[in-house]
Amino acid sequence: MTPVPHEDSCLCAVCQLQTAEGLSYAEALERIQQRDDALMAQYGWVAHAITSLPLIHTHGLPEHFGHPDLEIRLAISPDKRYNFLAALVEAVKAGRRFAAGQEDTTVFSVPIRFIVREESGRSVLRVLFPDPDGHFPGDPGCPPAWETQVLQD
Ligand SMILES: [Zn+2]
Repeated sequence: MTPVPHEDSCLCAVCQLQTAEGLSYAEALERIQQRDDALMAQYGWVAHAITSLPLIHTHGLPEHFGHPDLEIRLAISPDKRYNFLAALVEAVKAGRRFAAGQEDTTVFSVPIRFIVREESGRSVLRVLFPDPDGHFPGDPGCPPAWETQVLQD
């Protein structure tokens, strides 16, 4: 796994920086942008975790690996969300290509699916996971916690 810090990269990091260092909002944003630029130069991608939602997404995949950016929206632990995302990025870096409407069984021990969602004015590939009984959103019996993976926030 690529050791990219992730929780620090979330949007609320702006607020944390402002508070911790007495920066203005613009200064805090600038600081985060500089850190993202450094990570991007080193690894080719960064992850942004949104702490107000069970959501994490990548930046940099189109520019560096010719693949849509990826997103996960699932109420599991932030660490798991990041680890799942990083495993998918590693697969992309190794040459795998994912597309909306497809199912992949090569990355995890369960099948995953892909849909397109909007994120801050761009399109990303949202990764859908089945519940422990194999239900995907839209299947009869899919629990709400998994059904909400398809929400456009
Ligand atoms: Zn972002």
